[in-house]
Amino acid sequence: MKSGKIIILGSGPAGCTAGIYAARAGLEPLLISGPVQGGQLTKTAAIENWPGEKSVSGFDLMDKLMDHAKSLGVNFISDSIVSADLSERPFTLKSENETYRADTIIIATGANPKWLGIPSEEKFRGNGVSACATCDGFFYRDQNTAVIGGGNTALSDALYLANLAKHVYLVHRRDEFRAEQTLTDRIHEKVQEGKITLVLNAGVTEILGDEMSGVSGVRVSFKDGSTKELPVTGVFVAIGHIPNSTLFEGMLEMDHGIIKTGNSCYRTGTSIPGVFAAGDVQDPVYRQAITSAGTGCMAAQDAARYLKEAGAI
Ligand code: FAD
Ligand code: NAP
Repeated sequence: MKSGKIIILGSGPAGCTAGIYAARAGLEPLLISGPVQGGQLTKTAAIENWPGEKSVSGFDLMDKLMDHAKSLGVNFISDSIVSADLSERPFTLKSENETYRADTIIIATGANPKWLGIPSEEKFRGNGVSACATCDGFFYRDQNTAVIGGGNTALSDALYLANLAKHVYLVHRRDEFRAEQTLTDRIHEKVQEGKITLVLNAGVTEILGDEMSGVSGVRVSFKDGSTKELPVTGVFVAIGHIPNSTLFEGMLEMDHGIIKTGNSCYRTGTSIPGVFAAGDVQDPVYRQAITSAGTGCMAAQDAARYLKEAGAI
């Protein structure tokens, strides 16, 4: 059994930043790094919106963050949690082979984008297919792009790309958007300006191209049975995210799997006092490395204040 004042779950930007702040507050944090050491960013080639780094590979950036945390004494443990008991303090977390106990927990387990699940999407992921327009849109400036989805993310992505790309096709499976009205109105303005084309009642059935030159188009199928090819080099899948929160289902208040925070006097506090959440797992809107790091910093400070008020430090 391993125990500590604070356990951080996740080694992405949120977890590492929480580790840095918790270590500097003298909390001697244990950080359980989970199945993806360094988190989602390690899977992307170039990050160009992390302040202070004009361009850095996701792997190198996360290597630096983990190294920084380790240099301050954060105890990184290569393990993944499979069950939790938050009914009493100290809280208990279990992996396949170990039990962990802590007075406070910071959940920074991230979220994964939903994908269409077609084979050609997998083939071109990272080479023409992305789930993050804010991250990768820049690489498609002055090119034709497609955005798939009809929610706030898809419409925000389409608007973002409309300012960068040559043209944007917004492909949605219905003829009505679930996004908020203001975004829908702005999309229609861009349609009038000729920057966006709506491709409605349609689904992408294949992403076209070859491995050497990447994506050259998408094939869409309409509800009436017809098909069409759209000439695009960038495809942005924006059909929702799945937060890594199933471990805590039935224990913490959530909205569609997103852990609710700010329920108490702690901005990152969850519905259970002493349990904090940071990063994408609690973020329905921004989901960026920098915002994840920011909430990681907040969670560590909240946890330190909580421990002090509880008389644990
Ligand atoms: P994550 O980075 O997802 O990390 C989650 C951590 O939790 C992982 O270490 C995982 O191993 C761990 N974990 C999960 N389950 C468990 C468990 N059961 N037990 C223990 N640990 C667990 N953002 C930008 O700002 N700029 C970009 O250019 C950018 N590009 C991106 C490109 C791609 C392809 C993707 C997918 C995302 C990109 N993002 C970018 C978004 C960014 O990666 C995320 O917003 C950010 O990584 C979220 O950080 P996080 O720490 O909350 O979670
Ligand atoms: P979302 O609201 O769940 O929308 C997902 C969209 O993708 C829906 O239009 C859905 O179609 C479509 N879709 C889902 N699965 C699909 C599939 N397999 N194939 C094709 N299309 C599919 O997800 P989101 O847009 O990422 O938003 C998530 C949350 O973040 C929401 O609460 C949203 O309000 C919030 N958010 C807010 C902002 C903002 O405030 N500006 C920005 C981004 C996100 P249907 O409509 O037919 O179901």
